[in-house]
Amino acid sequence: MLNQSGQVMNFKTDINYRKQSLLKLLNCVQLHEQEIIKALYDDFKKPAFEAVISETAYILTELNHTIKNINKWAKPQLVLPSLLNFPSTDYIYKEPYGKVLIIAPWNYPYQLALCPLIAAVAAGNEVVVKPSELTPNTSKIVAKIINETFDENHVKCVEGGIEIAQQLLAQRWDYIFFTGSVAVGKIVAKAAAENLTPVTLELGGKNPCIIDETANIKLAAKRIVWGKFLNAGQTCIAPDYLLVSNKIKAAFIESLKKEITAAYGENPEKSTDFARIINGKNWKRLALMIKDENVIFGGQINETDFYIAPTLINEPALDSMIMKDEIFGPILPVLSFENEADLVSIISRYEKPLSLYVFSNNSAFAKKIIQNYSFGGGCINDTVVYFSNKRLPFGGVGHSGIGAYHGKLSFDTFTHRKAVVKKANWLDIPIRYAPYKGKINILKKILKWLS
Ligand code: NAD
Repeated sequence: MLNQSGQVMNFKTDINYRKQSLLKLLNCVQLHEQEIIKALYDDFKKPAFEAVISETAYILTELNHTIKNINKWAKPQLVLPSLLNFPSTDYIYKEPYGKVLIIAPWNYPYQLALCPLIAAVAAGNEVVVKPSELTPNTSKIVAKIINETFDENHVKCVEGGIEIAQQLLAQRWDYIFFTGSVAVGKIVAKAAAENLTPVTLELGGKNPCIIDETANIKLAAKRIVWGKFLNAGQTCIAPDYLLVSNKIKAAFIESLKKEITAAYGENPEKSTDFARIINGKNWKRLALMIKDENVIFGGQINETDFYIAPTLINEPALDSMIMKDEIFGPILPVLSFENEADLVSIISRYEKPLSLYVFSNNSAFAKKIIQNYSFGGGCINDTVVYFSNKRLPFGGVGHSGIGAYHGKLSFDTFTHRKAVVKKANWLDIPIRYAPYKGKINILKKILKWLS
C-alpha cells in the first residue's frame, strides 16, 4: 500500500496503513454478507437471524469500533513518572508482537476467525488465520475475504484440518490465539511453550445455570431456552446444565417446555430457526448421551441431517456421560437443589467454567453465587448476553481459558506494551552512584518521603 506521497507504507509502524486495511476489510465483509450467511446455512443450517446477530453484525460492530479508536489505542501512552527517576518523561509504547497465528473453531466459524484477526491487524501484526475444516463453506468465504483484502505478506488464510494446524503449530510464532476445546488447547499450549510464545486460549467447560425459588419463572425459562438452543446448543457460553430449586422445579420444567414450543413449534425439525449438529461424529456423541436418560421433553433424533431436538433430561446421574464433559448440543439436564451445599457439591466437581448464570430476585443470593464461584464471565437473570458488551473482557479462567478479549482488550491482547523512561540531562542526582558510603540513611529518608 502507498501513502499520498507514493511511499510504501508498513503495517508494523504505520497506523494509517492498518486503518486503511481495516476499512478495506469492512468494505469486503459488507459486500459478501449474504455469501457468509449462506455459507453458515450450508455448513449446519444456521438460521439467518442467528448468523446476523452472532456473526456478521458482531464483526461489523467490532470493525467500526476498532477503526474509530485505533489511533487512540496505538499511540504511545504517557504515564506519570516515578519521582525516583526525576527528571523524566515515561511512556508505554505499543508494539506489535510480530507473527501471529489464529486458530478458529467451527461453532461460530466466521466471527471467531475474524474478531481476533481485526485486533491483530489493528495492533500491527503479520497474521495467519486457520479456520475450522468442519465448516468448509465458511472457511472458503473467510479465505476469500482475506485474499481480497490483504497483501499475503500481511495476512494469510491457511485452510485445512488437524494436520495443517499441527504444521502451523510446529513453526515459531510471536503470539498464538486459539479458540476451541480444552483438549486441543493443551496441545497448543505445549507447542507454544517450545518457543515461550504467549497464548490466548479461549476454551470451554460445563457452564452451570442456577435458578432459585425467587426467580421470575417465565422470563428465566424464556432466556435460558434462547441461550441454550441458539446455534443448536453448540455455543461455548451456553448453559450446560440447570440447577433448579426443589421448590419451583415442577413449574420451571413446564415453563421450559412451553418456551421451547413457543420458539420452535410443535416439531422443531421443521423450524427454520433451529440449526443442525455440525457432523456425524458429534451427532452420534450427543445421541448416545440421551439414550438411557430420563427424557422429559424432546429426544427425537434424525441422522440424515444430524438433527437432535431441543431436549430436557431430568436428574441425570452425576457420573453419567451427559454430566461428565461439556455437552455442546441441544440437550439440557435439569438437576435440583435443596440448599447451597448441594450447589457446591455439584459445581465444584468440575473445572472452572467459561460461564455461570444465576436467576434470582434475591440480590444477596445472586451476589453470593457470583462471588463464591470462579468462572470466566456470566449473567444475573440472563444467559449468553454478556458476550455482546465490548467493554467486558471475554475469556475463561483455569481450564476454560487463558486471556480475554473484545473491544480495546483485543487490541491489547496482540500488543506488547514497551516501557520507556526518557531521562532529561539537565539534572543528574548523584545519590544512586557508587561509592555508596554514607548514603544509605539519605536513601532511606528519601524512600520514606516518597512512600
Ligand atoms: P477443536 O479444539 O476440536 O478445534 C479447534 C481448532 O483446532 C480447529 O481449527 C481444528 O482444526 C484445530 N485442531 C483440532 N485438533 C487439533 C490438534 N490435534 N492439533 C492442532 N489443532 C487441532 O474445537 P471445536 O470442536 O472446533 O470447537 C468446540 C470447542 O471450542 C468447545 O469445547 C467450545 O466450548 C470451544 N469454544 C470456545 C470458545 C470461546 O470463546 N471460549 C468459542 C467457541 C468454541
